[in-house]
Amino acid sequence: MIKSQYSKENNDAFDIENRLVSSLTIDEDEAETSLRPHTMDEYVGQSKIKQNLQVYITAARERKDALDHVLLYGPPGLGKTTLAHVIASELGAQIRVTSGPAIERAADLAAILTNLEKGDILFIDEIHRLNRNIEEVLYPAMEDFSLDFVSGKGPMARSIRLPLKHFTLIGATTRAGMLSGPLRDRFGMMLRLEMYTPAELKSIIVRSAKILGISIDGDAALELAKRSRGTPRIANRLLRRVRDFAQYEKSDTVTLRITNKALGLMDVDELGLDITDRTVLEAIIDKFGGGPVGLDTLSAATGEEASTIEDVVEPFLIQLGFIARTPRGRICTKNAYDHLGRTYME
Ligand code: ADP
Repeated sequence: MIKSQYSKENNDAFDIENRLVSSLTIDEDEAETSLRPHTMDEYVGQSKIKQNLQVYITAARERKDALDHVLLYGPPGLGKTTLAHVIASELGAQIRVTSGPAIERAADLAAILTNLEKGDILFIDEIHRLNRNIEEVLYPAMEDFSLDFVSGKGPMARSIRLPLKHFTLIGATTRAGMLSGPLRDRFGMMLRLEMYTPAELKSIIVRSAKILGISIDGDAALELAKRSRGTPRIANRLLRRVRDFAQYEKSDTVTLRITNKALGLMDVDELGLDITDRTVLEAIIDKFGGGPVGLDTLSAATGEEASTIEDVVEPFLIQLGFIARTPRGRICTKNAYDHLGRTYME
């Protein structure tokens, strides 16, 4: 069983939905909630964001008022949902969780809003996927804490304004650019989550290992950290995989040797790139002479969804300086050629 899990033929790194180094949630991440930090102190990294939030959270608590609305944005798996829960627990507030695609009708959102108590937090994940006419319900709710609706029809129609309790909306998105101007303007704080450094990811891995009862050597934790694409969700996932591998090798500790061997079999290279990253880079180099190439063309050439390339694959490749976005499309840089062992020509 374990053997087939790591064999090349059956390697789920080839399956984008369940890709090992995908920053999107995959089936096995359901255990993720147990690893979620609950307090600001436990929440590793993002120090600029944390400093800012501490000030506003303290002020809101002292004033006994609701925190200003917050927009969290950045690639998947960087800790937006986790941070929303941490903010709620620091405020001692209740949190109600939903997502853009889950809210199908304006009435659904109105029902959620009218049930919020003073100081409550409403977390809307993937807020950029909220329907425009539903989004409009949010404008007066965020700005004036009121709900506007029309009662009756024709000449009898009356516009009614219903007051809401002072709540805080925390929106999360991978695409701040896809938010409409009016919605974006109503957030008091727009916080961009950064990718994590290997040292930060190492401390997340060490903490998770402790919670999961895994013994891991320091150099093995650092190696995992370096191959986790700057993303805690991937770090935790790789940790669970190497733990399985250690168990298969009858070792009660995850060592550097086991880590390297396991990651090699999983086709995750020393920078954390997998087959999908290499496919995208090789397509740009081999099929489009290094670029520039447009997103849709790249999507057709690789068979990956354009949104997957943009949200999941590209952010890390850009962070590494392997891909650059130009007005005419994506290009591969010399660093990418070097990493793939290709010759770069000016
Ligand atoms: P997002 O909402 O941005 O997709 P999540 O908040 O669901 O990401 O985070 C994914 C997982 O990564 C969480 O379950 C948590 O265990 C871990 N994680 C994220 N950010 C941090 C952090 N700053 N410190 C420790 N663990 C984190």
